[in-house]
Amino acid sequence: MESDRKSISEILLHEGERNLPGNAVSPPIFQTSIFCFGSFEEFQSALADEAHSYLYSRGNNPTVNLCEMKLAALEHAEKAKLVASGVAAISCAILSQVQTGDHCVVVQDSYSWTRYMMMTYLRRFGIDVTFVEGTRIEDFEEAIRPNTKVIYLESPATFTFKLQPLEEVAELARSRHIKTIIDNTWSTPIFQNPIDYGIDIVVHSATKYFGGNSDLIGGAIMGSAEDIDHIFNTEFLPLGPVPDPMQAWLIMRNLRNLQLRMPVHYRNAMGLAQYLESRDDVETVLYPLLPSFPQHELAKKQLRGGSGLFSFRLKTRDIEKVKKLTNSVKFFKRAVSWGGYESLIDPNATAFAPGKPVPDDRISLIRIHAGIEDLDLLKDDLKQALDSMYT
Ligand SMILES: *Cc1c(COP(=O)(O)O)cnc(C)c1O
Repeated sequence: MESDRKSISEILLHEGERNLPGNAVSPPIFQTSIFCFGSFEEFQSALADEAHSYLYSRGNNPTVNLCEMKLAALEHAEKAKLVASGVAAISCAILSQVQTGDHCVVVQDSYSWTRYMMMTYLRRFGIDVTFVEGTRIEDFEEAIRPNTKVIYLESPATFTFKLQPLEEVAELARSRHIKTIIDNTWSTPIFQNPIDYGIDIVVHSATKYFGGNSDLIGGAIMGSAEDIDHIFNTEFLPLGPVPDPMQAWLIMRNLRNLQLRMPVHYRNAMGLAQYLESRDDVETVLYPLLPSFPQHELAKKQLRGGSGLFSFRLKTRDIEKVKKLTNSVKFFKRAVSWGGYESLIDPNATAFAPGKPVPDDRISLIRIHAGIEDLDLLKDDLKQALDSMYT
């Protein structure tokens, strides 16, 4: 219930941080691989239930657990598991729910390595996958089979920004005993809590806004205690995508200002998106919080705001103009990923090998990450870079 919930600042700044050893303000980093026991009996009971014990840091570690407690509370989940990367979160969550002969339904614009996992990896084990556009509930109704075990969502997806109707998909899945998993990296729990819509498992790349500084790799899985303990025992312990205590500590440190950063990313993304929309040489801007976005009504229903990542397409199909724009920015960095303090430009055409043809609709598709710099600085930079295409 909303009113019983702890505030985000209480969770991130105080939860689990009272009475720390030596009255320290900042939580200690438990840089240890093993934990010792006072007796045979304690030793034995820890081995019998590793999910709830300190035994060995490939399983639980106090620094990692503190970070997990905060992440679970942020996503309105019972429990969270921190893992080594976003991809580890995605693969552990999916693998925990399937076996040979099963079937998954996946949104087609999901993260590239998610698609690889579904298309190539699961097929090796005889698991079938159907990709759907996912903008309508009918897409899912038509794709579901009697052996469907997972519906995998990413709303919004991070190049096309297409949304799925979360409440309807969750209801459909529940009625057929299918698990729903969603990648909520783009929205962060500041702007969207999928569990409130009935989604079962939420995965995140902590590399993005949780880390927030482009200086670490990490991932997280949130869900019911039952689902997280199952993932801990069946995927996390045997596969070993372990987050180290230092990484957990850095994520906690950077999470403290998540609530302050996200509205700045939102304001800057909206400001840049509106500026781009006003230009004659821009064909379309894809940002769910823009009134012109095709699924804007659904976006307003599901999202409390938007993060810094969006894309736009120029009217031109001249790759030389795209190169000129990319090479002319002064403050935007040319790089993959996103979610840090800094602004980035990522032309989709760079994903195609040199000399290989680029599909027409990808030539001038450009992804922008709006960082937390002053909006005027970013707008001026983008303007001069766009104008440089004509000189
Ligand atoms: C980056 C990203 C991932 C993968 O996370 P890593 O931390 O790089 O493993 C997954 N989903 C989305 C939407 C991402 O942007």
